[in-house]
Amino acid sequence: MTSLTGAAHSGLIQNKIGAKLPVVERAEGVWLYDSEGKDYIDGCSGAVVANLGHSHPHIVDVIRKQSAKVTFVHRGAFASSSMYRLADRLSNATGMAGVWLVNSGSEAVEAAIQFALQYFVELGRPRPRFLSHRRSYHGNTLGALSLSGHARRAVLGELALDFNVLPDPYSGAPVDELLAQVRAELERTPGQVAGIVFEPLSGATLGCVPLPDGYLQGLRALADEFGTLLIADEVMTGLGRTGRMLACDHWGVRPDIAALGKGLGAGYTPIAAALVSGRVLDAIASGSGSIRGGHTYGGNPLSVAVADAVLELTLNLGLADTALVKGEWLSDALRQLAEKHPMIVDVRGCGLMWGVDLARPGGESAAAAPIGERLRQAALAHGLVIYPTTGGFNDACIIAPPLTITEDELQHLVDRLDAALTEVES
Ligand code: PMP
Repeated sequence: MTSLTGAAHSGLIQNKIGAKLPVVERAEGVWLYDSEGKDYIDGCSGAVVANLGHSHPHIVDVIRKQSAKVTFVHRGAFASSSMYRLADRLSNATGMAGVWLVNSGSEAVEAAIQFALQYFVELGRPRPRFLSHRRSYHGNTLGALSLSGHARRAVLGELALDFNVLPDPYSGAPVDELLAQVRAELERTPGQVAGIVFEPLSGATLGCVPLPDGYLQGLRALADEFGTLLIADEVMTGLGRTGRMLACDHWGVRPDIAALGKGLGAGYTPIAAALVSGRVLDAIASGSGSIRGGHTYGGNPLSVAVADAVLELTLNLGLADTALVKGEWLSDALRQLAEKHPMIVDVRGCGLMWGVDLARPGGESAAAAPIGERLRQAALAHGLVIYPTTGGFNDACIIAPPLTITEDELQHLVDRLDAALTEVES
């Protein structure tokens, strides 16, 4: 039997851990404390998840109260009042008509794919294909991974599903050229493409590189012209993280379907959602309803009560607007760090979702450990958690603290990053 002890990713097989990780004992706000008593600033909200920070007293109270009432019923038999409340709140906050609750970002993307397929089946004109972008990440289930232009595809062998052919929109290529290539692809396969999938900012793969201005508006126009659906993967960008409820709002574009995840449960519960426009909802709701199969834990009473409380707080505290203000401060500070540290070669992002591109110290061999991972380790030693990208295309790190971070804490974050950069450069 093959041994899995050598698994490179420390979290891959939990009883055969390859590398020792610090053990977290407690967390509060932006602070994490390990079993040795060391403190860390959560500079990336886990993996751009903990929008409200950790152990928020109101959310902890909701968890306690809901756990004492009811935690699970199968949604085939029962609903819960929080489920309806959450669905309405999500719909109002995003302007999307229908809400389908699942448990992870990957499941939300899978549901988005299935809704798009079902939409065309209901119209009596099935369409089998999807287009997505090179250098993107959409999740770790087979359909979502097939959409992704991410290094993990290579681990599993290039996947057989006919996805992922659009050119890289994050490369700085002129928008007109990019859109001409999308048009050519749609013309090559008339009536075949069910959906065009995109990340508003390439998160896990590139480190917060936004789509170029004009591209998304162009995609919307092409989707309308060719009768295909526009599918936004807002798993990382949604729910206030970039300063809007949906990052697509920055470009004034409405998707037909949007996938949400991470910030919906904000680290308090696994929950995610696929949202659909009125047009898609009408078609699939009046049809065969094949999506109704769903997932066992989808929309369970505990998760929906928690997510509803998270969303209510996000809206009441105006965290999307706050993200814009704090993000401006953070981006200025990161640019100042870039002036001091030649290792930082680019700073970009939006709201409280920022990425830095990192150059290797001069003369270093390409075989050396990825610089993003080295900076992550140095930052950890200095009491700061950052998120290195995993796409394998460049070396970048994501800085995306909880939206509740204070000014003082932002300053601590920047000071600790400064110290880590100095260490790696020396
Ligand atoms: N889409 C995007 C844009 C993501 O960043 C991620 C997670 N990094 C996913 C989908 C998958 O989400 P999950 O890990 O919750 O399945």
